[in-house]
Amino acid sequence: MTSVIASSADQQQQVEKTNLLGLTLPAMEAFFLEIGEKKFRAVQVLKWIHHHGVTDFEQMTNLGKALREKLARRAEIRPPEIVSQHDSNDGTRKWAIRVDGGGLVETVLIPDGNRATLCVSSQVGCSLDCSFCSTGKQGFQRDLSAAEIIGQVWLAIKSYDAFQQSNSRVVTNVVMMGMGEPLLNFDNVVAAMDLMMEDNAYGISKRRVTLSTSGVVPALDALAKVSEASLAVSLHAPNDALRNELVPINRKYPISVLLESCRNYIDAQSDKKRVVTVEYTLIAGVNDQREHALELAELLKDFPCKINLIPFNTFDQSDYQRPSGNAVSRFWQVLVDAGYIVTVRTTRGDDIDAACGQLVGQVVDRTRRAERYRQAADQNNQQATGQS
Ligand code: SAH
Ligand code: SF4
Repeated sequence: MTSVIASSADQQQQVEKTNLLGLTLPAMEAFFLEIGEKKFRAVQVLKWIHHHGVTDFEQMTNLGKALREKLARRAEIRPPEIVSQHDSNDGTRKWAIRVDGGGLVETVLIPDGNRATLCVSSQVGCSLDCSFCSTGKQGFQRDLSAAEIIGQVWLAIKSYDAFQQSNSRVVTNVVMMGMGEPLLNFDNVVAAMDLMMEDNAYGISKRRVTLSTSGVVPALDALAKVSEASLAVSLHAPNDALRNELVPINRKYPISVLLESCRNYIDAQSDKKRVVTVEYTLIAGVNDQREHALELAELLKDFPCKINLIPFNTFDQSDYQRPSGNAVSRFWQVLVDAGYIVTVRTTRGDDIDAACGQLVGQVVDRTRRAERYRQAADQNNQQATGQS
């Protein structure tokens, strides 16, 4: 008898708990129905998690004791783990975050006047291998879950202890511009962005939640049907020959096909005044010349966009150089003269390497280096003790 009871208890223990952190409103409603509870509980729990930052069911005072106990058995609210936090002199804050299975991703918060933009990662590494990107150099490890993506927003607010404040302005904007290609982790990214925009969660306006893609066209076409987030596209070159070198996925989905898909995306939005943000990383001597600017102005002539120039951020494994301030200004001027709205991404958090993929690059590198040292030391020891 005892053993039967013990084994059924063991089985109960082994049932994996659902992490409620990543559930959208419809998914949360489905969860409550599945455990035999009323649908309206979903809104209550969403608010506890995303408005109040609560992870302990015992603190959810508008749920009865029996329900709280049932939730504790069946579910959990588990944010990813912060490995390190760095504050820059200019107010930029950056986290390295460990996700299940040991991978590291990064999140950066960039305050700017009334705004504070959180740069969120979607994958551990990236498979697309753009030639100027340190995330690409790390290869692809795995997709983040919806909980791990929205968990970055949760952790950022938590780190300022700002959940309880009414009208918390810790995160006003989110950009999916950290590690990874968001459209290659479609379902989880869409779910996390839904939570960012959901009033019962973070309630950020759809204009302030931006997905950045290097151009995975079929997924972008699919996104048009399910999301109202703003769109940024990583162009980086005004013609296919150059873009094929910088952004290899261009060989599959060339510029004309990509721009058509972007146009369809904004045409599908209910808000007709929207434009695409065209990102253009300026690399000295590669894509930053006057003729490139002129060609870009011609290419985007009838395309509803604004342009964001990003001076290249250097990193160890790359020979590319950042252009001079003058070169950036010259490029900018050509586009402004052609009538475009052009912003230049100012470098923030320089003292903490707050550029795409770089902190994690260092951590991973250090870990690998440490691993090599350990192996070398082991070999030495083995030789010293006569082992093979
Ligand atoms: N995978 C997505 C989003 C993450 S990258 C994408 O490629 O759009 C976010 C932005 O940072 C992209 O525009 C990317 O091209 C740019 N970027 C990557 N590495 C960079 C570097 N070393 N210097 C400047 N911009 C970089
Ligand atoms: Fe991936 Fe974007 Fe980096 Fe390209 S730029 S390798 S798509 S993260």
